[in-house]
Amino acid sequence: MFFFFSKKSTNLCLFLLAFSFLSCSCSTRSQVLNGQIIDLTYSFDKETIYWPTEKGFLLEKRADGFTEKGYYYASNRFQAAEHGGTHVDAPKHFSQKGHTVDQIPLEQLMGPAILVDVSDKCKNDPDYRISIEDFLEWERKNGQIPKDMIILLKTGFGKYWPNRVQYMGTDERGAEAVKKLHFPGLHPKAAAWLMQFRFIKAVGIDTPSIDHGQSTHFESHVALSQKNIPAFENLAHLDRLPSKNFVVIALPMKIKDGSGGPTRIVAVE
Ligand SMILES: [Zn+2]
Repeated sequence: MFFFFSKKSTNLCLFLLAFSFLSCSCSTRSQVLNGQIIDLTYSFDKETIYWPTEKGFLLEKRADGFTEKGYYYASNRFQAAEHGGTHVDAPKHFSQKGHTVDQIPLEQLMGPAILVDVSDKCKNDPDYRISIEDFLEWERKNGQIPKDMIILLKTGFGKYWPNRVQYMGTDERGAEAVKKLHFPGLHPKAAAWLMQFRFIKAVGIDTPSIDHGQSTHFESHVALSQKNIPAFENLAHLDRLPSKNFVVIALPMKIKDGSGGPTRIVAVE
């Protein structure tokens, strides 16, 4: 690569540099240039679903109007728990020595992904746990899950958002309500298998938690966190994704020492 620094050629040079960077063999970069972008993120508002023990998302309007000087000006404050709406669980959430949200390597938050659809099995069973067999079934149709994938799990529960009763089994709040949660999750044995035999980078699900609603010990969270695998929760629009051949880009708010945080996550097909 040559560098020219005359005024006229600087822009061209930067363009060529960017082009050669983006057109490298890395599939993530070329797909970002060419693909259709699908937003897997819910907006944060009053309806946003948080765990029954948490307050909701609060947006406080500070300014919204024309100033004395004639220009328009808007500014708000927001308040929110780390874990609610579309967000990431950093490994620190369930592992003392796990990565905090600012420490998760960016490579783990973006890259090729697959979708495993178990919505048929969850239709009549809100306590369903996604099993090793579900992944083997995906593999019989699509081939073995390659190394370093982001695994997205479609339970079909996304269609109930933001109705708490349908989405998570209860709209009650407080510690007592936690016992009434019903929604599907990932079986801890399957979480362990994905890490040990398929070397995954991250997982994501269209329910409030990677462990199912009736979980009391959060074994999938613990297993994933101990191996520094982040989990995306409350994913939107998984029904718009194919089984494979897309990439995911997930960028959580970089909260220093955070155990998780609101995340803008998109897929590029
Ligand atoms: Zn979480």
